[in-house]
Amino acid sequence: MHWAHPEANDAIEERGTEHVVACGISPSGPIHYGNFREVATADLLNRAIQRSEAESDLIWISDDFDPLRKVYPFLPEDFEEHVGKPLSEVPDPDGCHDFYSRHFEEPFLETLPVLGVEPEVKRASEMYASGGYSDAVATALYRTDEIAAIIEEVTGRQLPKGWRPFNPICEECGRFADPAGDEYHCGHGHTGNLSEARGKLPWRVDWPARWKILGVTVEPFGKDHAASGGSYDTGRRIARQVFGYEPPHPVVYEQIGLKGEGEMSSSAGVAVTPRQLLRVMEPELMRFVIASTRPKKHIELDLGHGLPRLYDEVDRAEEAWRNDDPGVEATAFALSTVNDVDEMDLPFSHAVNAVQVDPDDPLKVLRRTHHSDHGPRVEGRLRRARNWVEDYAPESFLFSVQEETPDVELTGEQKRVLEAVAEAVERGGGGDEVQNAIYETGNSLDMALGDAFAAVYRALLGQDDGPRAGPFVAALDRDFVIKRFRDVAGTSDG
Ligand SMILES: [Zn+2]
Repeated sequence: MHWAHPEANDAIEERGTEHVVACGISPSGPIHYGNFREVATADLLNRAIQRSEAESDLIWISDDFDPLRKVYPFLPEDFEEHVGKPLSEVPDPDGCHDFYSRHFEEPFLETLPVLGVEPEVKRASEMYASGGYSDAVATALYRTDEIAAIIEEVTGRQLPKGWRPFNPICEECGRFADPAGDEYHCGHGHTGNLSEARGKLPWRVDWPARWKILGVTVEPFGKDHAASGGSYDTGRRIARQVFGYEPPHPVVYEQIGLKGEGEMSSSAGVAVTPRQLLRVMEPELMRFVIASTRPKKHIELDLGHGLPRLYDEVDRAEEAWRNDDPGVEATAFALSTVNDVDEMDLPFSHAVNAVQVDPDDPLKVLRRTHHSDHGPRVEGRLRRARNWVEDYAPESFLFSVQEETPDVELTGEQKRVLEAVAEAVERGGGGDEVQNAIYETGNSLDMALGDAFAAVYRALLGQDDGPRAGPFVAALDRDFVIKRFRDVAGTSDG
């Protein structure tokens, strides 16, 4: 059974048949694929609950009322003056949106429907401004002592004297200030009255308040919140004791790393956004990578050698899904579908060959090799293969077929391999026959197989290695291959 279904069943057992799955992010920088894991996990849970014939809605919350914490490496230095202001009130560093938070939210929100996620969008800044939090703020302030006791007990941390569960915004400078009893003091020498100030609940109180306000019953969150003494530990006690609300069913997920670069983090500059990934990954694959991994398991995304393998995995899962296989891979694919996907049989690695064999007309290559050669899916896969060749493909995947016969030295045995391949192609053989001809001739002549394959690559590419030989040779024009191999082998009629 897929991991989302036991989680959905637990949630239904705990909370009945009407659900709200919540997820969100603080839009402090580019929203990357690691952040998408939270949204995707929420969407998978939402779908799994709906498949169990319970009702479920998905909410995405922008924590745009959080303060700008520091001048991140991607910001201009003069942003120092905005540190401490809510993200919804800091200007856009690029000047193209009204505010900082919108600048980072918008490209992410635009990409979500492409990835099959269509949540109701909420913004903390709007919820506070419209009075959505008023009751919660009043309750929290009235019960300051209880909340402080819970936080101190669970975290083992001493709260400052005069602490209040409210972060006021300084009326003079627009930055969040520290409460001190009924007043506040901002770090810039201003003071004011807490009761008259705009502001927000601190995160540890804001989170449980929001569960109640939005009726959240299921929520995925990162392991930092899940740590012992972390915000889920305080949140569930504050929810029950202070707000009288049962905390949501928690699903903790791990981070996503980028192979060779470390954990994705926009502040550390290791971030690939979903929009950037769509250049090389199909939406279904972007979901499948997350759907096919248990939330608590780390994901290491390898956009180099790993990408063709990921495509092979998702293709196998899709086939299993088409065959009504009840297995976990097929279910992961079922939860990863975005649009109606037409059936096709073009492996990504072959698309990579096709765009390099004939950059102007890769469809011609697909017709030659009897692969699917039309439709938006095939076009999409060819486009992504081309982008991958440009952006990420390791050297070993790159080649260009030499238009002129390269001047290469081959042994007598190697020439016999080329003749055997030419004959196989002449008989109408495809990739398998070509691959066999190389193996069998090499074996029968007692050659090192590496030398047998090198003959093929030298004759076509002028180098010692290249893509898997059978499908590669089959992707080329037959007459061209026959003539080239016989020219190089010296067995040509002409
Ligand atoms: Zn101030």
